[in-house]
Amino acid sequence: MNNLWNDKEAKSFKSDLALRVYTSNLLGRSDELVLHGGGNTSVKSCVDGEDILYVKGSGWDLVSIKEEGFAPVKLEVLKQMAKLDVLSDTDMVLQQKAAMIDKSAPNPSVEAILHAIIPFKFVDHTHADAVVTISNNKSGIENIKKVFPNFLIVPYVMPGFILAQKIYEMSKDIDWETCEGIILHNHGIFTFDDDAKKSYDKMIEAVTLAENFLEENASYELPNIEAKDFDVQSLLEIVSKEKGVDIVCKVNQTPLALYYSSLDKQTVTRGVLTPEHIIRTKRVPLVLEDENIQDAIDRYKTSYENYFNEFSKDEIMLNPAPNYTVVKDFGIITFGKNEKEANILDDVISHTMNAVLKADKLGGYESISLADSFEMEYWELEQAKLKK
Ligand code: ZN
Repeated sequence: MNNLWNDKEAKSFKSDLALRVYTSNLLGRSDELVLHGGGNTSVKSCVDGEDILYVKGSGWDLVSIKEEGFAPVKLEVLKQMAKLDVLSDTDMVLQQKAAMIDKSAPNPSVEAILHAIIPFKFVDHTHADAVVTISNNKSGIENIKKVFPNFLIVPYVMPGFILAQKIYEMSKDIDWETCEGIILHNHGIFTFDDDAKKSYDKMIEAVTLAENFLEENASYELPNIEAKDFDVQSLLEIVSKEKGVDIVCKVNQTPLALYYSSLDKQTVTRGVLTPEHIIRTKRVPLVLEDENIQDAIDRYKTSYENYFNEFSKDEIMLNPAPNYTVVKDFGIITFGKNEKEANILDDVISHTMNAVLKADKLGGYESISLADSFEMEYWELEQAKLKK
């Protein structure tokens, strides 16, 4: 993949934070690395004699983040938090906020503790398509080890405090100097260095390795499929009624979407590419084959309610209607409260479809479990993010 670093551009960024903004924007410009709010970055700096972690604030996109989008948090406080036995994510957020030296800054990313315990100045985290495509797979563990022999490889756990704690434990005995990065199974990748450019370069090099592996082992060709007719307006009316708000949709009939829509139901309902997508897309789409739309939606809702009832404790159920639809031999239809939301979903699903097809060439796409999906979908912090 392209390395977008430009010496001339970079020259004007002198401070730690200015350089951090620059390479964060570079990461954000590649949508095969991060999409719409995904990923996070940090830099460790010194303010009035105290070590401070500047970490991406929630609500900011890497592509457009500015200096004021980074939350300055006392590094030592974060490092101590990693040693706690238990900490709810709500308490984690409160304690992180309390340790900020500028209270008007945004809330620090939920991965702030994890950034703090990585002993390098610059830390870059993305949900690179190529990495999660290899990882979200029946042979994922084995293939990731093959492609990234010198990385710390972490089995899937919930993002937030549990993930930071897990990496704190796993990294106690490692030699950070020879560790080239961290792979989070089913989630993404971290690279780090004391130099902003090198940390960014390492991300590009690592993702390129993954892309080359896929190129060699998982390329596919798309057949030509002619789209059937479908009554989009009726679908839109029914889904609007189910959601209780007027929604808009985006119809995707690219060759990729057409081919994906021709696959059987099991193939297109195997879960998300990286955990945070579930907040936007739900775990699976509505699949419309040759049946009445209302009947299909009723069945989708029942299945969603069963999933909710199986895993819920005291959560309040989200609206059980689908957020996107795979219409047999027609294409993909994403829904949103506005055009922007429907387009974001379309981006997420487009990347997912490509990953699924490649992962199937490697032995079979496999996402996180139903229980892990539920935990993510109903995570109190993610719920808060959406309400903003
Ligand atoms: Zn992440």
